[in-house]
Amino acid sequence: MNASATSTSASVGGPGLPQERRVVTEIPGPVSRELLERRQRTVARGVSHVLPVFVTAAGGGVLVDADGNSLIDFGSGIAVVSAGNAAPRVVERVSAQAAQFTHTCFMVTPYEEYVTVCEELARRTPGDHEKRSVLLNSGAEAVENAIKIARHATGRQAVVAFDHAYHGRTNLTMALTAKNMPYKQGFGPFAGEIYRAPMAYPLRWPGGPQACREQALDVITGLIHTQVGEENVAAVIIEPIQGEGGFIVPPPGFLAGLAEFCRSYGIVLIADEIQTGFCRTGDWFACEHEGVVPDLITTAKGIADGLPLAGVTGRAELMDAVHVGGLGGTYGGNPVACAAALGAIETMEAEDLAGRARHIGDVMLPRLTKLAEASGRIGEVRGRGAMIAIEIVEPGGITPDPATAGKVAKACHQAGLVVLTCGTFGNVLRLLPPLVIGDALLEEGLSILEDAFTAL
Ligand SMILES: *Cc1c(COP(=O)(O)O)cnc(C)c1O
Repeated sequence: MNASATSTSASVGGPGLPQERRVVTEIPGPVSRELLERRQRTVARGVSHVLPVFVTAAGGGVLVDADGNSLIDFGSGIAVVSAGNAAPRVVERVSAQAAQFTHTCFMVTPYEEYVTVCEELARRTPGDHEKRSVLLNSGAEAVENAIKIARHATGRQAVVAFDHAYHGRTNLTMALTAKNMPYKQGFGPFAGEIYRAPMAYPLRWPGGPQACREQALDVITGLIHTQVGEENVAAVIIEPIQGEGGFIVPPPGFLAGLAEFCRSYGIVLIADEIQTGFCRTGDWFACEHEGVVPDLITTAKGIADGLPLAGVTGRAELMDAVHVGGLGGTYGGNPVACAAALGAIETMEAEDLAGRARHIGDVMLPRLTKLAEASGRIGEVRGRGAMIAIEIVEPGGITPDPATAGKVAKACHQAGLVVLTCGTFGNVLRLLPPLVIGDALLEEGLSILEDAFTAL
């Protein structure tokens, strides 16, 4: 059977796709299974997948597969298509740009779109100080560059990252990422001068959430003082809400305290907002909820609706400390990716997607809280806006229960709901719908999740 021949009428993506869940085969269906076999013969085994349905169209809150199933999307391709898959403003700008020119290399002959994206980054990121940006291709590359800039500007080498952190899979970012399996196993040696501090993780702080609020900052700054020395630290890098590590939300005031500590020792505070940025948490950036202005901020994922683009934005004096020619890359800030970013940002503004994210949180939190009370297997419901997770534990305590998390995810997939797991212990279900998802699909997705718990 030929995959393209069996594609359904839903051959065009975007918000015009019927916004419905429709499961017409087992999941994955026969066409996807055939494609999976081809994949296994040719794609490296190290590249995993959550759910092997092969997508032919997507938009609004659904993914349509090669067998004609329409799945509710609570993943957004890992918090990327926040403005919706194939969003009209993105498609229009990308098509027009691709017809005009696809590449010159900004370092050879520049173009306006790159500059406009940097203007948007300066306007949207926290703080009204003078800013500069550099554009890159991936989140990991943005993090690498933020570290390069911080080291160059301070003349120091040490970098402090946190337990449960995720910053990417390149050599330097693997060293910053906390979790061994699958990200680091067998891939060393890792970059030097990286120090790890405990994360302010209320549920799992020894002594509990209240102790976390009171102690976390002291423990971390004490560790930096005794084990590293403040004057050796170039940067502290933190995700304001940790993503892959389990959607861990530090207690109120923690980030502001950390920023204050960094400021008083001339340490560059890098906020990795690659997953939290661009309206996902109900504001343009998650730092804003805490009134924190980082020195450097890394962005990717939600910035360009799925085209590869990332950025480092920060204080002009730090960014411009680097010599001419010290930053860049062949593709960074590709014009088609920049066009996508401008379309995504325009959509976020025009459709108030930050407001939509807050609404999604308001719909999800009460239902999930009720689910937690009923099931006894949910240790915590947490997150902000449209970045919400439930941490699954063994009843009566907080022992992580990844097997149940996997079972629930699988049941959701079979019913036509794409959900992702995360967390250092693999026991967190994370919900990241596109911000343009309609309320009916949102509620239906939550019902599927509830049913999956009932069926346990
Ligand atoms: C995804 C992610 C990265 C890495 O981004 P890539 O584009 O996959 O390299 C870095 N930091 C955070 C917080 C992320 O969520």
